[in-house]
Amino acid sequence: MDTDVLVIGGGNAALCAALMAAEAGARVQLLEAAPREWRGGNSGHTRNLRCMHDAPQDVLVDAYPEEEFWQDLLKVTGGQTNEHLARLTIRASSTCRDWMRRHGVHFQPPLSGALHVARTNAFFMGGGKALVNAYYRSAERLGVRIRYDAPVDKLEIENGRFVAAHVKGERIAAKACVLAAGGFESNREWLRQAWGQNERGEWPADQFLIRGTRFNQGTLLRHMLDDHGADRIGDPTQAHMVAIDARAPLYDGGICTRIDCVSLGVVVNREAQRFYDEGEDFWPKRYAIWGRLVAQQPGQVAYSVIDSKAIGRFMPPVFPGVQANSLPELAQAIGLDVDTFMRTLNAYNAACRVGTFDHTQLDDCHTDGVAPAKTHWARPIDTAPFYAYAVRPGVTFTYLGLHTDDTAAVRFGDVPSPNLFVAGEMMAGNVLGKGYTAGVGMSIGTAFGRIAGVNAAYASKSHTALSGKAMAAINGGVEHAIA
Ligand SMILES: Cc1cc2nc3c(=O)[nH]c(=O)nc-3n(C[C@H](O)[C@H](O)[C@H](O)COP(=O)(O)OP(=O)(O)OC[C@H]3O[C@@H](n4cnc5c(N)ncnc54)[C@H](O)[C@@H]3O)c2cc1C
Repeated sequence: MDTDVLVIGGGNAALCAALMAAEAGARVQLLEAAPREWRGGNSGHTRNLRCMHDAPQDVLVDAYPEEEFWQDLLKVTGGQTNEHLARLTIRASSTCRDWMRRHGVHFQPPLSGALHVARTNAFFMGGGKALVNAYYRSAERLGVRIRYDAPVDKLEIENGRFVAAHVKGERIAAKACVLAAGGFESNREWLRQAWGQNERGEWPADQFLIRGTRFNQGTLLRHMLDDHGADRIGDPTQAHMVAIDARAPLYDGGICTRIDCVSLGVVVNREAQRFYDEGEDFWPKRYAIWGRLVAQQPGQVAYSVIDSKAIGRFMPPVFPGVQANSLPELAQAIGLDVDTFMRTLNAYNAACRVGTFDHTQLDDCHTDGVAPAKTHWARPIDTAPFYAYAVRPGVTFTYLGLHTDDTAAVRFGDVPSPNLFVAGEMMAGNVLGKGYTAGVGMSIGTAFGRIAGVNAAYASKSHTALSGKAMAAINGGVEHAIA
């Protein structure tokens, strides 16, 4: 059977594109590099999606208006974002949940814990794996042909127009195509090149762990940038990077390797020195910068240190931390110089100005006269037992991608392709130049996956991709928008 729309990738962005294209009546084929049991990419590891809403909505409390979402994004990216595409993502996040439900996704109220996200993020019942499974089931019902073990390694593109993809020597032609094959975070050699060697002669990326799938090797990203000259966005060293349990596996450790007690204690490097404000902001707005901070430390390792006052205030890691009844014993147990560690901890403890501790607010507990400062939740680390967790940089996803616009078209020399579109991590850098705020990866993938799917369906019927029509389709139902 001929293919109208070829979707390359098998995670959230690809599935959203495939579902929308199929709903629009296109004959869709989806190529997933992974075998069936590993399908779904990083999306299988997710838990939630950040959603704008002007009033309480099912699982979301209060309101999270467009402007607040935008300001949050502006703050974490330091302005390295495209406002038009960011606002498009934000608005699309307010209307996508009914569509998601129609394809079998269920939502649940968030669990309490260190993430202050009951207002901003809608959690998937059963997590990302359940979401991905629901989308695959729905795609099969809609007649999408799905192929696993199908890594695309070459694309035929003529004058900016997609012609065919190659999988293990087989040529697959289609009228339009959506690229949704993730970033290059699983490609350790590329990470090594991108990060280079530091002033200490270390190759920092050699110590990185990959939080998600091993299948996002960036093969198509590199092919599009180097061989086809597609317009690029982003810096290859920018990524969503979390400080994760140093004992995590190289790939697919997922969320259970997170260490979420940073803001409740202090973090020291291998030289037993603090290096950043642990209480700068709420953890969901800061957790994704700590991987990068640890990457800049000697040996790319650090230690999150807490005392017993912190216990019960954060989601406990799967593996227990190192425990000791005194701070010198703790330093010894984690192999740090005891004198330096004690100097650091004593200086921090003496600098704490404890007001009214409240981990749900940006409270008034801060340090005075120590560098770096801890600006919120600063309390002395003085109550045994004490705990330490060794952390390493955990790469979630990279931000180098393909430059796009509100039609999700891939661009060559600033000219949009008539039939080649991009979604998800492969273009997230248009919205995320750096930094991260929890749940926005799925907001971007869902918005652009759906737009790319509609526009690929249009393109396969020789219509021009239009952002307005695509938005109408993803807001009001694709059947009304496609002629
Ligand atoms: C542990 C973890 C937790 C996360 N939690 C959240 C969260 O709660 N909320 C949130 O918003 N974001 C979260 N993220 C980020 C989120 O996973 C991504 O932003 C989002 O899933 C990206 O979707 P995607 O479809 O672009 O990529 P992916 O889901 O990674 O899909 C890429 C797909 O492309 C396939 N592929 C790769 N190369 C090829 C090729 N050459 N040919 C064919 N197929 C190919 C892969 O096998 C994979 O199926 C998390 C990520 C991780 C790792």
